[in-house]
Amino acid sequence: MAWTLRLTSERRQEPAIPLQSDGSVRSLWDMSTAVCAICRSAATRTREHVWSNWFLQRMDRHGAPPLGWSLNGVPLLTRDRTQIKGSQRQRVMLGICYACNQSMNMTIEEPAKPVVGPLALNGWRGECTREDWRAVGLWWAKVLLLVGHPDSTLENPRLQKLVRWHFESAPDVRWLTDGNGIPDHVSVFIHRADFKKAGTRHELVVPAHVFMDDGTIADCHVLSLATPGMAVTAVSSPGVTIEHPLVASGHAWELLHTPPAGGALQRLRPLPRDVVRFVRGGGVPEGHIVDGSEMARLTALFGYEASSATESTAQPQ
Ligand SMILES: [Zn+2]
Repeated sequence: MAWTLRLTSERRQEPAIPLQSDGSVRSLWDMSTAVCAICRSAATRTREHVWSNWFLQRMDRHGAPPLGWSLNGVPLLTRDRTQIKGSQRQRVMLGICYACNQSMNMTIEEPAKPVVGPLALNGWRGECTREDWRAVGLWWAKVLLLVGHPDSTLENPRLQKLVRWHFESAPDVRWLTDGNGIPDHVSVFIHRADFKKAGTRHELVVPAHVFMDDGTIADCHVLSLATPGMAVTAVSSPGVTIEHPLVASGHAWELLHTPPAGGALQRLRPLPRDVVRFVRGGGVPEGHIVDGSEMARLTALFGYEASSATESTAQPQ
């Protein structure tokens, strides 16, 4: 299987007025290398396979990855100028505590195993129940948000240097293990991807920062991935509502909160893998709606002017 990672946290120009986060929040994040990347406790850490080991082993048994590594369509090369291509799928590791590791095994990996494995080996074709699809969505939310975590590392050190898919800040993923369930602001969108077609029809600008009503600043995170048969995007956007145009028209599904009442992805219309492009924007106030409209696009792209943000948090750098 070929994985094409599409980086949607691509670096755009900074917003007109660079925004700085609240210092106390930032300093907590800065300690993230010494604490669990999920619950942030200082408990003894273990190396978590972000792509679950059961999944990689299952895929590797069916052959080496057919394609080499590319980023945004450009091949990644070894020192002797050949495309990097592994005999097995690249492992992504992240330091988390034993309790989080166990919790995710129980609540995310075990329910996903019987569904994700067969789907992945079958080009994401297959009939699933609503609960199955939710389990698939939760698994992708975990994988994509942790792949993008700034502390995650690839096993291949050359790839690690070349591939920059990390978010600019650590996503708040405590919900993965704190028992409080999936927050409203985390979504997983999938559509049936046809790799023979290309063409973006919708651009959704996800703001980098959200000025929350309580005076704090939250960061948004987006990561998309396409593999023959399916394109998937995980979005974490506190204070922001995403109105996905393809979900509204029935050509895509949101799996965490509104999974389909059973069904097969292959019955959706095949669309270009990049039919929806998620783009990183600037800062917006809480309550912003991302819906692909020109107004939402421009607002999120350029961010709000300083007068809309609180003076104390908008400082020129
Ligand atoms: Zn933990």
